[in-house]
Amino acid sequence: MDKNQAEEKILALRQILNEYSHAYYVLDNPTVPDAEYDTKLRELQELEGKFPELITPDSPTQRVGDKPLEGFRKVRHAIPMLSLANAFNENELKAFDRRVRQEIGDDFAYVCELKIDGLAVSLRYEDGQFVLGSTRGDATVGEDITANLRTIRSIPLSIAEKNTIEVRGEAYMPHKSFLALNKSREEQGQVPFANPRNAAAGSLRQLDPKIAASRNLDVFLYGVGEWQGKEISTHSGRLEYLQELGLKTNPEWKKCATISEVLDYVAYWTKERPNLSYEIDGIVIKVDNLQQQEELGYTVKSPKWAIAYKFPAEEVMTTLRDIELSVGRTGVITPTAILDPVRVAGTTVQRATLHNEDLIKAKDIRIGDKVIIKKAGDIIPEVVRAVTQQRTGDEQPFHMPAECPACGSELVRLEGEVALRCINPDCPAQIKEELIHFVSRDAMNIDGLGEKVIEQLFDAQLIHTIADVYRLEKEELLQLERMGEKSVNNLLAAIENSKENSLEKLLFGLGIRFIGAKAAKLLAAHFKTMDSLKQATFDDLVAIDEIGEKMADSVVKYFSEEKVETLLQDLQHLGLNMVYKGASVSEQATDSVFSGKTIVLTGKMEYFTRQEAKERIEALGGNVTGSVSKNTDIVVAGEDAGSKYDKAVKLGVTIWDEDQFKAAIEETEN
Ligand code: NAD
Repeated sequence: MDKNQAEEKILALRQILNEYSHAYYVLDNPTVPDAEYDTKLRELQELEGKFPELITPDSPTQRVGDKPLEGFRKVRHAIPMLSLANAFNENELKAFDRRVRQEIGDDFAYVCELKIDGLAVSLRYEDGQFVLGSTRGDATVGEDITANLRTIRSIPLSIAEKNTIEVRGEAYMPHKSFLALNKSREEQGQVPFANPRNAAAGSLRQLDPKIAASRNLDVFLYGVGEWQGKEISTHSGRLEYLQELGLKTNPEWKKCATISEVLDYVAYWTKERPNLSYEIDGIVIKVDNLQQQEELGYTVKSPKWAIAYKFPAEEVMTTLRDIELSVGRTGVITPTAILDPVRVAGTTVQRATLHNEDLIKAKDIRIGDKVIIKKAGDIIPEVVRAVTQQRTGDEQPFHMPAECPACGSELVRLEGEVALRCINPDCPAQIKEELIHFVSRDAMNIDGLGEKVIEQLFDAQLIHTIADVYRLEKEELLQLERMGEKSVNNLLAAIENSKENSLEKLLFGLGIRFIGAKAAKLLAAHFKTMDSLKQATFDDLVAIDEIGEKMADSVVKYFSEEKVETLLQDLQHLGLNMVYKGASVSEQATDSVFSGKTIVLTGKMEYFTRQEAKERIEALGGNVTGSVSKNTDIVVAGEDAGSKYDKAVKLGVTIWDEDQFKAAIEETEN
């Protein structure tokens, strides 16, 4: 390729990469998979490597992120928030190791950390107070998102370090919150987020902090910016100090003496990654000693003392056999691809959501196509694209029907929504979904009334509305297939028990638009009774922290409907409790021996895996960290506990054996 051709190609690549970046960083709505972006960026890097005179400062190879979004106050970072250089395989990691050795010799250590797939944020503390939180933006200028970051409970508003410090880390959305958010977005006819990263970024870059507050975000901190605090000479020392200050760090980091230990860590987490409750997209490797970091220095875009190993995106090909339509609780019609079974990222996939008609058209996906499948954020199966080169001509374009597949009424597209909806209030598919929602765990939690039984009852015309659940009789239930005396008795007892549920469970179960389990709890705690909630005005509702305008509007509209009034009267006559009974079990649990405590796990446990123990502690409000310090509250020591045990003894930290730990967990959970 001569210079002219290279220049032409470079310009074309820059233009397309800038378009991708804008969609990804500014709009939080990527238009292509990351792998495609990465491949094009590499191509550009290689061309610029051959023709360095063509490099310009605004090339995507020289820039971090994208410009900040209008609408937020801009923040100039005292120290730029750089990106990281990437390695895509073992050889590239070894090459990084050689470069480091050439520069600083052999006497050094690495720290390996999980690469959290979220949004880089900077938190500034002055005089011990959290005063400013910002996004990375284009590395030098970010957005002031303090109000949104204050809604993340693991970010302390004050800390013991009184000198000015800036800490940096990743705000992220745990899998559970991501799945729940996308489910409710689909139910509301909105476009789901492509992955947890975009969901976190989209939540934090909202002008209304109530939205961020409702999204259950979390944070892991892994570095510093401006620093006038305690002098520390290593990165690992910093991580320990941050944790000591109550600034949450990820507990899985590890010091590694050699590149082969680094590779072991990479191999371990490549395997263990599916067991984490949050998304990681790689491993970050950093030189531990800060003096040595300075010697290695920086490029315009990233430090030379660190590298990010990226996990390969697993994409596989299969055949799309059919497109099935389902009708959701709110009437949204969702097309689902039915696939020839294929293994992707650890599980067999046979179905993948296609979200909506626009998306099928945009990707030109046809029935019979060979398609590429991946898991978005490594959890949700997704059809990336059709392999058009392999078409035989027999593939059939898909047309969305004009009528609801369940009730035959005409489908509509509400303004501002991408989804088609069935708006027939008597649509049987919707009623079934409403009933399934009503009895589900976070709602009335009626054991024995799963999806199958609801369908059975509905098809046998024993239930038509929520209230009918409480009118079921033993005789009629006994007539049903697979229903014996014992299961009928159990079911009726579970239904009877559910009448005593606290108000928030009923409220969530009613399926009011935009009112998820968390908002239902807020409303119940605030208004205490269904009656006073019914009388609440829009203004009363938005005055509650975390209840936004959309939610308030929806609540007022819901209670103004005549059929809702009839339903509630019915439920009241049937004996359902409509009063808030105080903190729910899970809230009480956060008031447990573990809440707010920092716990270190060490040694081998018999009863729990490490991951399980950690999740149980976290669910009970505790925090698990990797190393023992004077701020550790409890060390749980299994068999063969080593240096962490010794350190705990030295520092006088409480030590539990596995039995004590198990007893404490069981006592708190019950
Ligand atoms: P990056 O994701 O490759 O790595 C740097 C970032 O990692 C840091 O800024 C920090 O936010 C994060 N990080 C997570 N854990 C960390 C830890 N323990 N220590 C240090 N940093 C940690 O860099 P980037 O510049 O944020 O983004 C590039 C990525 O964005 C690529 O994966 C690229 O594919 C993707 N991208 C995709 C599109 C698209 O259209 N799909 C467009 C642009 C960028």
